[in-house]
Amino acid sequence: MEDLECVFRWVIGSSVRLRERNVSEKRKVLEPDAGAIIFLHRSQFVADAFESMEDVIILGTGCAGLTAAIYTGRAQLNPLVLEGTQPGGQLTTTSEVENFPGFPEGIDGFAMMDNLRKQAARFGARYAHAKVDRIEMADGVKRLVCGEQSYEAKVVIVATGARPRLLGIPGEEEMFGGKGVTTCATCDGAFYRDMDVVVVGGGDSACEEALFLTRFCSKVTLIHRRDSLRASQIMAERATTHEKIEMAWNTLPQAVMADEKGFVRGMRVKDAVSGAEREIPCKGAFIAIGHIPNTDFVEGLLERDGDGYIVPETGSQVKTGLEGLFAAGDCVDHVYRQAITAAGMGCQAAIEAERWLAEQ
Ligand code: NAP
Repeated sequence: MEDLECVFRWVIGSSVRLRERNVSEKRKVLEPDAGAIIFLHRSQFVADAFESMEDVIILGTGCAGLTAAIYTGRAQLNPLVLEGTQPGGQLTTTSEVENFPGFPEGIDGFAMMDNLRKQAARFGARYAHAKVDRIEMADGVKRLVCGEQSYEAKVVIVATGARPRLLGIPGEEEMFGGKGVTTCATCDGAFYRDMDVVVVGGGDSACEEALFLTRFCSKVTLIHRRDSLRASQIMAERATTHEKIEMAWNTLPQAVMADEKGFVRGMRVKDAVSGAEREIPCKGAFIAIGHIPNTDFVEGLLERDGDGYIVPETGSQVKTGLEGLFAAGDCVDHVYRQAITAAGMGCQAAIEAERWLAEQ
């Protein structure tokens, strides 16, 4: 009876929740769904384990991930979407999105992500909370290891986004997202019309944010910790010669100061040379000191650039070079980083995933 190795299986209705790792670990971990106990031949066990593998797992619920979910859902691939530590992504921290096409009055960032989520669910997307530690590849199967748990899929779309780097100074977190501290001039700049603001950073992003803000704000103070900008020459020149932009060189942010209502009233800074401290009055503090892509979990598996962004295959925006593994949105894109561009990449990844599955 050796070849009739039997295992117990618990099932609810037709749902099969065994995983392939159960096969290798021989009967060790059977998911405790309540119901009838049946006997199962080992070969059947393997077949069922394969059937229980997901077609598509999408990592991330920002614009890229949810757009990929809508497209793969409509393609009847029944995607499983794993939400990480920030369900809804960066837009959930934005008060109003005015530049996403189709919303003439603008839309609240949280509401927009909620709509995308519901739209994907309407086409069969399922959601689970899990933080992926690593992806293992074996014989075309992608195993997503999430602590003690693991998921398996034929296709994985990585859309884990990027998080803005923050200063880590007092007041920053408390006033972030709605009380005056923000990381996106494109999203929030218009709310600071005729007000004084500061931008922190010395790279292209900081210059770009500062220049964008001059359209609305009465004065923009660009705070940089050194005496020369990291930004490209053309951006640096535009910023330093703009009449509305005042440079604060060798200036180290110390704290974001709040008014009596808890909104930003200024930034306390320290002169890196003299050590003298002062407060720069402002209603908005834009932090533009770079982004950190959420890609640590693919280290050693996918090619990443020096800043951690996933490097797509030449000629594609979303193919990673590994079969059936795609990447989209801000974990790949370090240039545009807009909701609409992330959504576009999610769409591309979904279509590529669908084609790849059809070819298999
Ligand atoms: P970045 O080039 O890495 O610049 C980050 C800036 O923040 C640097 O000036 C850095 O100071 C400063 N900084 C970092 N940590 C800080 C801290 N704790 N306190 C104070 N200052 C801090 O990042 P980025 O500007 O986001 O640009 C990222 C990439 O995107 C770059 O390759 C850039 O060229 C590109 N980009 C291009 C454009 C464009 O072409 N229009 C627009 C945006 C971004 P130090 O200089 O002292 O290190």
